[in-house]
Amino acid sequence: MLAVKTVRQKHQVSPELLRLLDDFRRMVNVCIAVGIEENVSSLKALSLRSYHRLSRNMLGYYRLGAISTATGILRNHRKANKKNPRTKLPYARKLMLTTCYGFKIKDGFLRFPVKPRQYVYVKLNGHTLKVISRFEVRSITLTPASLSMNYSKETTEIEPEGYVGIDRNLDNVTVASTDGTVKTFDLSKATGIKSTYRFVKSRFRRNDSRTRARVFSKYGEKQRNRVQPILHNVSKRIVEVAKTGRYGIVMERLTGMRRLYQKGNGQSRDYRARLNSWSYGELQRQIEYKAKWEGVRIVYVSARNTSKRCSICGYKTLESTHRRLWCPHCGAILDRDENAARNLAAGGLRFSPNGPPGEAMVEEREPKKATLILKVDGGKLSR
Ligand SMILES: [Zn+2]
Repeated sequence: MLAVKTVRQKHQVSPELLRLLDDFRRMVNVCIAVGIEENVSSLKALSLRSYHRLSRNMLGYYRLGAISTATGILRNHRKANKKNPRTKLPYARKLMLTTCYGFKIKDGFLRFPVKPRQYVYVKLNGHTLKVISRFEVRSITLTPASLSMNYSKETTEIEPEGYVGIDRNLDNVTVASTDGTVKTFDLSKATGIKSTYRFVKSRFRRNDSRTRARVFSKYGEKQRNRVQPILHNVSKRIVEVAKTGRYGIVMERLTGMRRLYQKGNGQSRDYRARLNSWSYGELQRQIEYKAKWEGVRIVYVSARNTSKRCSICGYKTLESTHRRLWCPHCGAILDRDENAARNLAAGGLRFSPNGPPGEAMVEEREPKKATLILKVDGGKLSR
């Protein structure tokens, strides 16, 4: 199994690089236009139809990179369009270039061509050099402000000896293992930052939509910059717990999750906003790639009934006071969060060859991202 990680650093953009980024964006937009016009979105079809329309002055692998980036954007657009047919036509705004070819790392510098035999150099910092020294760099992504390098390694999945279930709550995640240990990771700082920004946004009174969009996107960025390190810390610790205990990780499948927290289900508006804004998807993404890197198995299960079912006997529990549940069948009084996490962990056992027989479940995994680096990275452009 190929596991992929990214290291990012800042750099000073040169005029040559800026021109290359601009040319690259233009190519991406040509490809997007071709894709829309001819109604194709597969990499192969788009290559056949757009490659010859791209400037011959550009290096071949940048042309391919642009097609690949456009493929990602078109694919996202197609998905969004299915949900909402009035989705705006896609267009790459950000200056961003991703390539798997042409670059070279030598003497502490990253070298890549802007034209045949004409190179730009970016000085790599100590951290980047240390990180990539042991791995193979598969692709690089350049923006005017930063350089990201994707590196990979072959991992083998460790056969788990138990599972930990991860349950998300308002201000924490609870991690419970199949052998009974429970750990809670506090995330109130992250949710606090989020609700502060939500409050600020709700008080924003300028009605000019362009100003609003600009100001909000700046808020969003600031918020991400503050929340991201908190999530990274928690995801790292969770994966460590799993690795040292030889556990697999069981998480709830998020599809349709948001629907649970929609209007009219009896939850207050603030509660819904807080639970929805909670970056659980981002935490899952981090846990998943970090787990893959360490060879820790990830299993997704449906979250249905995990919160209500008694984790001891499986009977439907009743609400008790102080976020506790009471099981009328076995008499247990359970902590709500722990109970849900335990149920999730137990869900993992059903995938073991000698686990208890349960209802048939299909193991779900995210599509393999490693083989699609370009496409995945490309998708970011469309926002
Ligand atoms: Zn019970």
